[in-house]
Amino acid sequence: MSAQHELVWFRNDLRTIDNPALYHACQSTQPVIAIYIATPQQWHQHDDAAVKLDFWHRNLVQLEKELAELNIELHFFQHDNYQQIPDLIATICQQWAVNQVHVNAELAVNESQRDANVIERCQDIGVAYQEHHDQLLLPPASIRTKTGTPYKVFTAFSTQARQRLATPPSLYPVPNPCKKISDNATKRLSGQCQFADIHWPTVSKKIQTFWPAGQQEALTRLTEFCQQPIQHYKTDRDTPSLAGTSRLSPYLASGILSAAQCWHATLHCEMSDGVHIWQNELLWREFYKHTLIDFPQVSKHKPLKLQTEQIEWRHDEEQLVAWQDGKTGIPIVDAAMRQLLTRGWMHNRLRMIVAMFLTKHLLIDWRLGERWFMQHLIDGDLSANNGGWQWCASTGSDSVPYFRIFNPVTQSQRFDPKGIFIRHYLPELAHLSDKDIHLPSAKNRPENYPSPIVDLKRGRLRALSAFKGV
Ligand code: FAD
Repeated sequence: MSAQHELVWFRNDLRTIDNPALYHACQSTQPVIAIYIATPQQWHQHDDAAVKLDFWHRNLVQLEKELAELNIELHFFQHDNYQQIPDLIATICQQWAVNQVHVNAELAVNESQRDANVIERCQDIGVAYQEHHDQLLLPPASIRTKTGTPYKVFTAFSTQARQRLATPPSLYPVPNPCKKISDNATKRLSGQCQFADIHWPTVSKKIQTFWPAGQQEALTRLTEFCQQPIQHYKTDRDTPSLAGTSRLSPYLASGILSAAQCWHATLHCEMSDGVHIWQNELLWREFYKHTLIDFPQVSKHKPLKLQTEQIEWRHDEEQLVAWQDGKTGIPIVDAAMRQLLTRGWMHNRLRMIVAMFLTKHLLIDWRLGERWFMQHLIDGDLSANNGGWQWCASTGSDSVPYFRIFNPVTQSQRFDPKGIFIRHYLPELAHLSDKDIHLPSAKNRPENYPSPIVDLKRGRLRALSAFKGV
């Protein structure tokens, strides 16, 4: 059969705007076919949260419609074995007469290895394979020290990144509709399934309402954020009771929106501290993605500061569960953990507070916290999550120094002074005064709220001594 189709394999890039793989496939004069391979066993192994899987599900529904407008059919496959994916792609190419496969690169070790195997298999059967980069603002290995090594420190990385971004990354428009595919060109294959056959987890309507699906929703959020809130970002971003941040992380993590789209949006804003700081957050995201590529131990959940492997983390299942359930007796920690459980998302300031509380005051291994976050976050992202946890646990290359331990009560007084956030998530404490709410005393603590599971002073000293030891 003569080669006559282009194939786009969608993974973490569920959008049609600024999608280089889709754009390049559509430059051909041949009809384009799209596929999505669901891998439920991998999702389980990767600890992908139900809220995140549901979000993919809802976004795939949108993507399917948007692709149909471009005359592209999205076909679904379900496969549980990464090892067999190269053969599956080869079969698709052979049976559907594909001459070129287009993907946007995935950056973690397992996915890169899977793709390397696919490339080899494509070579065997004479099918071209085009890999594009859509997750990064700047290409891999393009930000280097004078000696050609990757940066381990954010400030130096971001200085060079900003210089490079004086020429912003290109944005790819939605391609023009492609040539229609002829009937029977995509006869049914083994492993192919109906979208409805895939077992997507279900989550509450309430969570779905917080996180509406689709690239248009993401673009509306981005536009609205850039119209006003971004100008107040410097002051509002640390107050969890305000909608002071963009809440775009789920869209960025699943590729409903690209970092390049965000960067371009900032270029149309009036420059201010708020805009500069928000750009910095996009650069933290970038830094961690480059770290993921340059330091494969990130994919294996190993610390970047190797000596911290020797820290003797405590094994305390009861305290771990109290932390997970939001029952530590430290109100800001508990309110934050309940935000995670009910919204599938947590404010950045709170992520830092709860991560530091777990790894320092409780001296529990950061990997257990990292895992719990992945299992519950709608924006769970290996590089950002690992980066955030290693920063808080002082095990990363550019982390908070181990002796700078946030006191959760002081943080609460500073960033939620009137207890607005705490009252929302812990109604059992709503009646307490602004002063008492940050750490209720035995006298005014209601019966249904636990006493603190750790003495903060003692926990701090224990962490200092454990870290000093290594
Ligand atoms: P905004 O403040 O509006 O920032 C805009 C975008 O920049 C975010 O959407 C995100 O993509 C990126 N960003 C912001 N801060 C960071 C950061 N510190 N590191 C990397 N990227 C950043 N972010 C995730 O996307 N996924 C995670 O799994 C994740 N886990 C984290 C775990 C810990 C322990 C910590 C401390 C941080 C983690 N972050 C993670 C980073 C950050 O908390 C979230 O990106 C942010 O809270 C998302 O809210 P937003 O979209 O309103 O962010």
